[in-house]
Amino acid sequence: MPEAEQSEKALSRETLAELDRTDPLARCRDHFQLAEDLLYFDGNSLGPLPKTSREHLHRVLDQQWGEDLISSWNSHGWIELPRRIGGRIAPLIGADPEQVVVCDSVSVNLFKLLAAATELRPGRRTLLCQADHFPTDLYITQGLAGLRGQGYRVGYVGVDELRDYLLDPERGSDVAVVSLGQVDFRTGRLLDMAEITRSIHRAGALALWDLSHSAGALPVRLDEHDVDFAVGCGYKFLNGGPGAPSFLYVAERHLGRAVNPLAGWFGHRDPFAFNRDYLPAVGIDRFMCGTPPILAMTSLDAALDVWQGVSLEEVREKSVRLGDLFLRLVAERCDGLGLSPACPADADLRGSQVCWTHPHGYEVMQALIEHRLVGDFRSPDILRFGLCPLYQRYVDLWDAVEILRRVLESSIYLEPRFQVRSKVT
Ligand SMILES: *Cc1c(COP(=O)(O)O)cnc(C)c1O
Repeated sequence: MPEAEQSEKALSRETLAELDRTDPLARCRDHFQLAEDLLYFDGNSLGPLPKTSREHLHRVLDQQWGEDLISSWNSHGWIELPRRIGGRIAPLIGADPEQVVVCDSVSVNLFKLLAAATELRPGRRTLLCQADHFPTDLYITQGLAGLRGQGYRVGYVGVDELRDYLLDPERGSDVAVVSLGQVDFRTGRLLDMAEITRSIHRAGALALWDLSHSAGALPVRLDEHDVDFAVGCGYKFLNGGPGAPSFLYVAERHLGRAVNPLAGWFGHRDPFAFNRDYLPAVGIDRFMCGTPPILAMTSLDAALDVWQGVSLEEVREKSVRLGDLFLRLVAERCDGLGLSPACPADADLRGSQVCWTHPHGYEVMQALIEHRLVGDFRSPDILRFGLCPLYQRYVDLWDAVEILRRVLESSIYLEPRFQVRSKVT
């Protein structure tokens, strides 16, 4: 850490500007379309538009769809996109490429993988979820358990109680699969994937990790940590665009036997044979279902260009520093204004976001957004700020905290217009 940052005296905007001048990732900001006056801290919900995605989308629209039409499936390799993009995401999640494919949404992929996992553990009837998991992960699990019937049930366990749950001979031996998020979407807590996966395996169960808040934010090591299944999001830290397809990972050791319950023709061994009976493709292809959305795939594909020459270790290092500085600035400059930290103070236990609770969290966030500081609100009272080292600057922290301080000090957030609830928060 540079000396200026370590010193006891309060931080200044100049200290932060100095960090920007020596930041090896500073050049990456230019890859994105971002207004100069906008403080965007919501890339963990929707990544900004990479300039290369805009250009590539135009090419695909005008030339491929516009001119070459259906021949593009072959001539422009549309048919290869799910595997090719999967192969590009693989190094970001520490996986060999033949285990990753891009298709459908996180929710749909969760369904496929949970079903596959329970089939691989016959006789075990508990689908165990992290108690405060992202709602869609919970709902999909509930839906699948209901469909299975026959005593299948969803269990919920706090992360800190997971080990004991699994070690309990009666409860642990009934668990088929454990479904967890590597980074908690509310609090930003980062879990120990290696240790938790080991304890899941010791209980004879399978591990399904949701990487929506970790892929593209920090180094992930699926193969090294022996993970069984994983899903992740294309439109958050991977900047693939609104509703970008998700990716899924199945460890090679399961690929021969894991069954996709959504047996669509794109998962068939020979889709264009148009046979009556389903025969699953060999390998990860079997986890596809229907026709891939080529325009959405195109934008995700191009968005991955920004990772060329970028190391995730560097990204993580900057993310940690951004988080530490943001927390310190708020402690120094917003003291007594009603904010309580809601994320781990220890960077080793924190993903790529920081958050605070505030009794008027929703209204405060609406007022911040009006002042061009975009984070988001997570019910019931969390103000959440995503840290995206590819395009955020250290001085953005200073400017963000100044806006936060002014909004809180002035109580402007109590004005009625900030209380109107939108559909999407
Ligand atoms: C964003 C997110 C999702 C999104 O699921 P979709 O089906 O793509 O809407 C799922 N799980 C987690 C943990 C997420 O953060």
